Amino acid sequence: MKHKARPSKKKIVAGACAVTVSITAPLLVQQANAADPEVCVSGELTAKSIDAEAGHVEKDTLVRNAAWELSGKTGSRTTTIVIRSGSTDDHGFFRACAQGPMKDAKLRFSAKATNRSQPWQVSPGNGSPYTFETTLGQVTKSEAVTASASGDVGTALTMIDTLNLLNRQRAIDAPLTVVWPNSQGPQWGDDDKMYLNRNDGRSKHTLLHEAGHYVMDRLNGLPKNTCPLGHGIHSRTDATCAWSEGFATAVASYLLKDPEPVYVFGDPQVRTTNLAPANKTRGQGNDIEANVAYTLIQIWRDDSGRQKTLDVIRDNRGAFDSVQAFLRKKQDPNANKRAEANGIVL
Ligand SMILES: [Zn+2]
Repeated sequence: MKHKARPSKKKIVAGACAVTVSITAPLLVQQANAADPEVCVSGELTAKSIDAEAGHVEKDTLVRNAAWELSGKTGSRTTTIVIRSGSTDDHGFFRACAQGPMKDAKLRFSAKATNRSQPWQVSPGNGSPYTFETTLGQVTKSEAVTASASGDVGTALTMIDTLNLLNRQRAIDAPLTVVWPNSQGPQWGDDDKMYLNRNDGRSKHTLLHEAGHYVMDRLNGLPKNTCPLGHGIHSRTDATCAWSEGFATAVASYLLKDPEPVYVFGDPQVRTTNLAPANKTRGQGNDIEANVAYTLIQIWRDDSGRQKTLDVIRDNRGAFDSVQAFLRKKQDPNANKRAEANGIVL
């Protein structure tokens, strides 16, 4: 009786530092030889990182939509080529195949994704994404591979996975680079780059908050000179600061499907703030980030998504300078009722 051969297993473990071995050979279409059986390496890509939302403990994440590249020598080739490239799927799974056995095979994963037509990446700041690579050597039959990243590259890959929450919304078609770690963070740099401090890399809320600024910026620009004196979620600032920051904070909490809207910081550690506005004084809500954020989250849940809001932002010339200006354009009695209940005056 014939039976399927059980694939042997290879383990890839990335260390604390991002090891980049560059492959300079151009991508070539391999010459198929019908006599050679197809051999594949397949498995799941997991990343270890400290997770602020889980209480600053280390967690494993299956990394979706991360780029991989298989290189090696096939057939009678004496030079290394890139045999296949692709991205992990919605379950963090990869399958890289070649026609015939491979020699000097290597598999490389990058903290890089494709959002619509544009590259998104997490980079230490040198313009290239974090990567890790492993040597598979000679591959003569299909193999299951365990790929596990830790250290900085593990955190970078976890961030790529988190950004999928935004990616899947298909709101924006523009490049994005997360520069991490960087002492300027956390901030959106208005140059296709966001900057995050080392500990900010632990917080999905901080990553997606800055990505929220990216969304608003790329839709219709950010209001100018926001928050000259800084801002806090429950602090009273001004209407422009509260709108810009409240929008970004709402994006994070909404995408993470917080049962009750919260914000979790990477630095300082373990600080959770309920976004339900404590101050409902009529008129003051316009100037408080939490009131704007909570109102937007309620509107997005009522609207079954953010698209109607994004359309209003995109379709109006010039950036809105307040939640009031936005609501006047949205012309939605239900949204107005939500806002008024949170101390916002139209
Ligand atoms: Zn912000």
